[in-house]
Amino acid sequence: MGKDRKFQPDFNTNPYRIKQTPSPSKRDYVDFSTRRICPACGYNIKIDHNFCKYCGVDISAIEPVGRDEISKQLAITAVSDPDPDVRKEAVDTLGDFGDNRVLGVLTYVLLNDPDDKVRKEAADELGDFHHPISLDVLAKALKDESALVRKEAIEGLKKIKKKTDPKELSKEKPESRGIEKEDSEPEDTSENDNIDFF
Ligand SMILES: [Zn+2]
Repeated sequence: MGKDRKFQPDFNTNPYRIKQTPSPSKRDYVDFSTRRICPACGYNIKIDHNFCKYCGVDISAIEPVGRDEISKQLAITAVSDPDPDVRKEAVDTLGDFGDNRVLGVLTYVLLNDPDDKVRKEAADELGDFHHPISLDVLAKALKDESALVRKEAIEGLKKIKKKTDPKELSKEKPESRGIEKEDSEPEDTSENDNIDFF
């Protein structure tokens, strides 16, 4: 259909034409005071929702980032600063906070940031949280157009799987120990026989 129509803008006759990429601040604006990002699917939902209306996941155990002022400001920077290096730094710092409330923002960045360095950083941080809720979004990121991001998504999946694998967890089962303790009586009475010699 549209493939045959060749529209080639003539830059010689149209000197005022500029690149039409929307500025990140407009495109990615999320009001974290009233909204939160679902950490499972990355959609923007109301801050007081306990279930995501898009994917149905129970997010009541994860605080919205907007409830903490510093995290909120960093989240705004992470999704809207025009400089990719600044966004990346904000993502890195949010990850360092180590609080589950930032999972939604990281998910959003991984799915939406136009710069692959920033998306890669988000994938890296999500992996470090080892939260199983991130498995879906990391699996989605395996189809990212950037190899950098796809590789980090694999790493992230690996990190989370390692922590949540039932085989790994069963190694630490406490019940396997302590059974043989019950009938261990001291039987060391044979050597005292010839003390009363004379
Ligand atoms: Zn969701």
